[in-house]
Amino acid sequence: HHLDRGPIAPLAALSAHELFFLKNRTILITGGGRGLGLTIAHACLESGASVRCMDLLPEPSQPQWKLAEDLARSKGLQISYHQLDVTDQDQVHQVFSDLFATNSQETPHQPIRGLFTSAGIQIMMSALDYSTEKFRKVIDVDLTGTFLCAQAFAKEWFKRHPDMDGRAGMEGASIAMTGSMSGHIANLGIECAAYNASKAGVNQLAKNLALEWSKKGIRVNTLSPGYIRTALTAAQLEEKPELNKIWLQGSLLGRLSTPDEFRGPVLYLLSDASSFMTGSDLLVDGGHCAT
Ligand code: NDP
Repeated sequence: HHLDRGPIAPLAALSAHELFFLKNRTILITGGGRGLGLTIAHACLESGASVRCMDLLPEPSQPQWKLAEDLARSKGLQISYHQLDVTDQDQVHQVFSDLFATNSQETPHQPIRGLFTSAGIQIMMSALDYSTEKFRKVIDVDLTGTFLCAQAFAKEWFKRHPDMDGRAGMEGASIAMTGSMSGHIANLGIECAAYNASKAGVNQLAKNLALEWSKKGIRVNTLSPGYIRTALTAAQLEEKPELNKIWLQGSLLGRLSTPDEFRGPVLYLLSDASSFMTGSDLLVDGGHCAT
């Protein structure tokens, strides 16, 4: 029989706001070169973590990247950028293996304890027009890519923490995957069956990985955002300007969100504040009500 050890003792010693700190750890972020991923990288630095960002382009291209570098420098933390295509299995395992190895050499006082997956694509297209190739591409990046990164993370983490039985929370790791409210609904005005199917898949993926990994020390949850003002939605609005009205009508708050509004929810998922949450979904959608 395993005895229930009760709440993890050191947690009680933290003040309420300290629960959200990410001090003494490093967070990995896919899609961390821009959009939501880069905003979360900035938030992790603000909260005391070093960050390793992965993205498709060879170099970070956004002006906000410089700001994140400046912030890291001013706080004595690290931020680094690594080119990665999340659909390339060999590359994913190589990059994660290198990151874990380098991190334990360069910042042993900040072990890797979190993964935020933000890499994703969206293709608007009616189901009748979808080519198999396009359908597969969306599933490949949004669902399979998320799986490959979580798997590579877990393999490396379990190698270094073989004996975490029952200690998820304070000493464990947290994976927060970006699903979407689109994983829960069909979006009025947008034809995007592949995207919505893959995001629903991400929710189920998280639940099942949580079932396999939680007792061994890795909590797994999803964040399901509503519409965010990023390049992704800008492209949709450019293609179909009438979406703006539909989106505003569907929001109880009467607006779209900004990436900054997900700093709180993601810090919650990655930090000890959510120590008893796993296999679950955090829906942050501005009270979206149009299906
Ligand atoms: P962005 O397009 O700004 O960011 C997505 C990032 O993922 C980009 O940097 C993109 O690179 C990268 N990416 C795309 N394909 C790959 C790949 N194969 N390997 C590695 N990286 C890749 O979008 P958002 O910041 O808006 O989206 C972030 C996440 O949030 C996505 O998963 C999205 O589905 C989700 N989401 C977004 C919502 C929104 O309204 N914006 C709502 C709900 C969920 P590149 O730019 O070079 O293509």
